[in-house]
Amino acid sequence: MNPRDAWLRERLAEIERQGLYRRRRILETPQGAEIVVEGRRLVNFCSNDYLGLANHPDVVAALRKGAEDYGAGSGAAHLVCGHGRAHHALEEELARFTGRDRALLFSTGYMANLGVISALAGRGDSVFEDRLNHASLLDGARLSGARLRRYAHGDLAGLEAGLAEAAPGTKLVACDGVFSMDGDLAPVTGLAAVALDRGAWLMIDDAHGFGVLGARGGGLLEARGLSQDDVPILVGTLGKALGTFGAFVAGSHELIEYLIQKARTYIYTTALPPAIAEATRVSITLAGVEHWRRERLHTLIQLFRRGAQNLGLPLMESGTPIQPLLIGRNEAALRASKALLEAGLLVSAIRPPTVPNGTARLRITLTAGHTETQVERLLEALSRLPEAAERQRVPSESRS
Ligand SMILES: *Cc1c(COP(=O)(O)O)cnc(C)c1O
Repeated sequence: MNPRDAWLRERLAEIERQGLYRRRRILETPQGAEIVVEGRRLVNFCSNDYLGLANHPDVVAALRKGAEDYGAGSGAAHLVCGHGRAHHALEEELARFTGRDRALLFSTGYMANLGVISALAGRGDSVFEDRLNHASLLDGARLSGARLRRYAHGDLAGLEAGLAEAAPGTKLVACDGVFSMDGDLAPVTGLAAVALDRGAWLMIDDAHGFGVLGARGGGLLEARGLSQDDVPILVGTLGKALGTFGAFVAGSHELIEYLIQKARTYIYTTALPPAIAEATRVSITLAGVEHWRRERLHTLIQLFRRGAQNLGLPLMESGTPIQPLLIGRNEAALRASKALLEAGLLVSAIRPPTVPNGTARLRITLTAGHTETQVERLLEALSRLPEAAERQRVPSESRS
């Protein structure tokens, strides 16, 4: 073996020794409550398709029609000649849906976060982030060259103290709306007050709230009644509850114009396929009007939490479709996930660095497509897991 591959092999072995090796599973069916993975039919408790729209016939039909009307690829970046009628219509609908002046499409949420943070902040500026923020928000701050200051999870006083002593440059507070691995909510009303008071930008990444929270599915900010004046930058993703692909930033006319000029992950990349935009337009309509999907989710969340509580399982503080069970050690989380797989249930084990050391967990997600029977089957299988009781033996760990 050449020395480069030998070096890689040694690193891979180290990852394996730490219980951190990641493997992909090959899915053979569309996304849904039941899927076939490498020949096995499984109940799926790990997708972010919260509303069950990823394989909705109307969304799929719009994708097909979009391809017939506009072809397969966009052919260029938005600023060259890739910005089509479908993209533009979707942006206008996203602005209406979120109650913002305008919205700007990005190819992924990861790119939206990198683009926004690095467009607004640079050397000499400060970016403030919750310790449990999504990797893309952290990476955005790193890329920007600004000083990254992380505050303890949900700690408004810590944030305020940090803002008070920040350097004179731009201050940007960036935070998940729904924390992706914990399922709990950011204190957005408090964040808005602190940011306003300290003259800082506030950016909420509502990847897991958009479509799910709020009476019309507008997300956490709709649920809390926070306007564009309260939260000037809203990021939403389209690959989760909306069931398609892509992301957007919504805010003032000036913010969007500025991002078009300055966000490098917007400028230097090919526009989404227009058919994806057409499919998303249909899924937004469905998300807005089919309230039963959110109601159904809520019922299943209650059912799961009541059952898990009765079993004494290590539930976390979450009222969202993300219902993690804290296990602790990486190997124990992997063993639990494997035992569930043997029972025909797909639940992923989430390990560092996605979550802090010592807090490996089963990340269970519920969707509107699940049945009560499937949730009961999950609870039954969980009741037989020794790992679910193991957390008590793990010393509480600092979150990194
Ligand atoms: C999934 C996720 C993203 C990334 O969105 P993609 O469109 O999948 O790139 C960003 N932020 C949060 C909080 C997420 O959970």
